[in-house]
Amino acid sequence: MYNLSDTIAAISTPHGTGGIAGIRISGSNSWEIIRKIFTRNVGAIHELPLQHMHACHGFIKDNEKLIDEVIILPYKSPNSFTGEDVIEIFCHGGIQIPSMILDLCLKSGARLAKNGEFTYRAFINGKVDLTEAEAINEIISAETEKAVYAAGEVLRGTLKEKVKSFRERIFSLITSIEGAIEFPMDVSGLDRNEIANSLKNINLELLELIETSKEGQILRQGVKVSIVGSPNVGKSSLLNQLLENDRSIVTEIPGTTRDTIEEKIIIKDIPFVFIDTAGIRDHAYLDKPEALGIQRTKQALEKADIAVVVIDLSKEATYNLSLKNGKPKIIVGNKIDLVGALRETPQQECDITISAKYGTNIGDLKKLLVEKTKSISPVGASLALALPIYVNQRQKELLTQSCSHIDFVVGALRAMPITEDLIADELKKAVSKLDEISGQKINDQIIANIFSKFCIGK
Ligand code: GDP
Repeated sequence: MYNLSDTIAAISTPHGTGGIAGIRISGSNSWEIIRKIFTRNVGAIHELPLQHMHACHGFIKDNEKLIDEVIILPYKSPNSFTGEDVIEIFCHGGIQIPSMILDLCLKSGARLAKNGEFTYRAFINGKVDLTEAEAINEIISAETEKAVYAAGEVLRGTLKEKVKSFRERIFSLITSIEGAIEFPMDVSGLDRNEIANSLKNINLELLELIETSKEGQILRQGVKVSIVGSPNVGKSSLLNQLLENDRSIVTEIPGTTRDTIEEKIIIKDIPFVFIDTAGIRDHAYLDKPEALGIQRTKQALEKADIAVVVIDLSKEATYNLSLKNGKPKIIVGNKIDLVGALRETPQQECDITISAKYGTNIGDLKKLLVEKTKSISPVGASLALALPIYVNQRQKELLTQSCSHIDFVVGALRAMPITEDLIADELKKAVSKLDEISGQKINDQIIANIFSKFCIGK
């Protein structure tokens, strides 16, 4: 997948203007490369030797031409992020200097690193397991404080340790089962009930971990909120108020929001993805683009975690929206400014009344959205969890598969005769699913897929 014998280099900081930029070189030639392009004292005859973890001030030079004044930080294998010899160069930011220095590294023997290649090397060299590697990517792309803390927890090895402990507990059961197979005379019969109970307990804990994936999804992708209602009720105006900008086009002609528009905002540290849609209406003479928009509205509603149904208080509601059973919804009565505060119907049917045009009660609507989020999160109130980690989709699927192997054994132990061989085999399958989570056993294609999601320089 990646050639591990090459020395690789990349700019590790974002492209653009900034005070400082960082370039990273990793591989067996990295110290040799830096010796060619770095000097502590311009014109000095003897260069002082570089030392592991000793930051060093000096200059990057292309032969006699000085490019920039920099700080370098050398690391000796295995005590570096990748486990290899590494050099980090901190130069002035901007677009030009970092790319000139990178070019010089490449001219001097390094190859440009591919996406995620530094972290891949860290993984291959046992510096991080797969859960920690994934957490690095998550912490970089975190959009909320909660997401930072959650990814940080996994990065510090909490999930790795948890998976390891499940693995050990299942393995110790396998060992005693295999002991019973090999030395039937020495082992005074397996207590099948006891094994079933132990496995049941492991499964309960695995399920608890699987449950965290819902919060994980919310933290990573946001709560999907679909804003729906008839044309002209004020959906786009509401979205603009929520976003506090003019991303969505607002007009007075019904049916102008032809496509769905998605925008993410953070309310009380929870990301919400708002989907503004064309209005749903059963009109016989819809032109094609709008019909398409309505189709998308229906799809958006299917995908949404919460539906915000907007009705125009100054008019009669023209249709009844059939929402999927149980989907949390907030009925928003809009245009309160046109009807005044005293009118009683249909405000009574609304969870909240607002004026999207003048921004009335938008703060309260945001609070209501946070409240509703609790009902879509299985673990409960305000995303506060007993476990501080949130497993991702890949980890969830593997945990679920591991669980079903264990479940099979528990069921079989209690309900039918099952040989020790079969029990041990099924439990080994459960263990191998756990090993895929940590990356102990995993195929190259899955690894390539995981690391391809990383950015260059990570
Ligand atoms: P959409 O088709 O549901 O997206 O509706 P728009 O957001 O495009 O709004 C349609 C019209 O209603 C525009 O002229 C808005 O200015 C107006 N409008 C939206 N919200 C309010 C409101 O709260 N009060 C008043 N008076 N007009 C509103």
